[in-house]
Amino acid sequence: MGQYKLYCPGCKTNFDDAFSNICPCCGNAGPLIRVDYEEKMFKPLTMTGFWKYLNWLPCKDWNDKIKSQTVVYKSSGFAKELGLKNLFITFSGYWPEKNANMVTCTFKELEAPPTFQRAKEKCIDNLVIASAGNTAKAFFFAAQYYNINLYVVVPRKNFDRLVLPFEVPDNVTIIAVNHNSDYTDSIIFAGRMTNELNLVPEGGARNIARRDGMGTVFLEGVHFMRRLPDHYFQAVGSGTGAIASFESSERLLGSDQFTGPVPKLHLSQNKPFTPLADSWNSDSEELLTMSEERQRKAIEGVYAKVLTNRHPPYSVGGGVYDILCATNGEVYGVTNEEAKSIGKLFERSEGIDLVPAACVAAGSLVQALETEKISQEDTILLNITGGGVERLWEDFNKIQVEPDIICDDTIEMEELKIILEELHG
Ligand SMILES: *Cc1c(COP(=O)(O)O)cnc(C)c1O
Ligand SMILES: [Zn+2]
Repeated sequence: MGQYKLYCPGCKTNFDDAFSNICPCCGNAGPLIRVDYEEKMFKPLTMTGFWKYLNWLPCKDWNDKIKSQTVVYKSSGFAKELGLKNLFITFSGYWPEKNANMVTCTFKELEAPPTFQRAKEKCIDNLVIASAGNTAKAFFFAAQYYNINLYVVVPRKNFDRLVLPFEVPDNVTIIAVNHNSDYTDSIIFAGRMTNELNLVPEGGARNIARRDGMGTVFLEGVHFMRRLPDHYFQAVGSGTGAIASFESSERLLGSDQFTGPVPKLHLSQNKPFTPLADSWNSDSEELLTMSEERQRKAIEGVYAKVLTNRHPPYSVGGGVYDILCATNGEVYGVTNEEAKSIGKLFERSEGIDLVPAACVAAGSLVQALETEKISQEDTILLNITGGGVERLWEDFNKIQVEPDIICDDTIEMEELKIILEELHG
């Protein structure tokens, strides 16, 4: 099962997976590499949750202790409020009444397990990730099931949001980076750790296991709908999830079991920090950026903080710009007020709470209707990337995550190395 090669669209060559996410020939400037699976047909297997798509995941085996599952259903309540006839929802979160069992409450819980499983199969014994919060939670979750040392870099100021329904396992080391730092600073810091301390980078948007793990949300949606949607809605920070969905739709079309066209992507960001919307809506092939100071100021005003990646993979080959071109896509900016009020409407009409990013996606659906980018009869897939946090705390106790190390982002890596050695004896 899960036989695959890696493929670089830049030099058009196949190569074996040596746990690198970079083409040996094109390097860091090359396009996103993809996985070329031996199995070309869409054939869901019998395993629980996302592992049923194992023949389209870059690992050979699965871990049956992990049962994370996206739930798909046809909306009646929220759809009726908006007057939509064919609104389908993929819900990745906690909603036991609907069999949604993700205790970290977002679709990041689908990225982490395949990343660990692939690392295990490639005999990798450590991984470094940077996170604003949700990725960290998902990787803490998956780390419970693998014997791999995980280093997680999180901005210090995000810790109050880091509460879990389980204890962080012992193979995890949490590094809080101080003061001014935001998510992007954490990414840069994690990069220094991997370069200078010889640790293994998880790979971010380039990580094929993350993309194909998230791509299972789209597969689950299509498995339920038995067709591709006309439109796909998702809130984006890096855009990795949207790239994953696009790649899934191409794989499905490649099987000849489905007819096109490839679904139109409707991506959304939270005002006032909307670099992907600004760039796409100005027809720019390059990411438009403001001064760092203005970016940080804008980020402070954002409700859905997970959407505030300052360096999204926009202009890289196979990145956000390319998938928007390929699908004649749209990118919306949604205000905090819009997001919150639509979020309330969703909760009232569907019966489950949403994380802020999912409120932004729901807000963009309303904008698309108002601007007639979609019509009421169209088949629409709304990716609810996270929800059920309030529902979760009805069933579990909160455990506050604490950092193992707190440091400034100017710390020398030699010094960090000594601290790490002391910590682990
Ligand atoms: C991370 C995240 C997103 C954005 O995903 P990207 O792949 O970074 O675009 C959206 N919603 C939720 C709940 C997330 O945690
Ligand atoms: Zn190449």
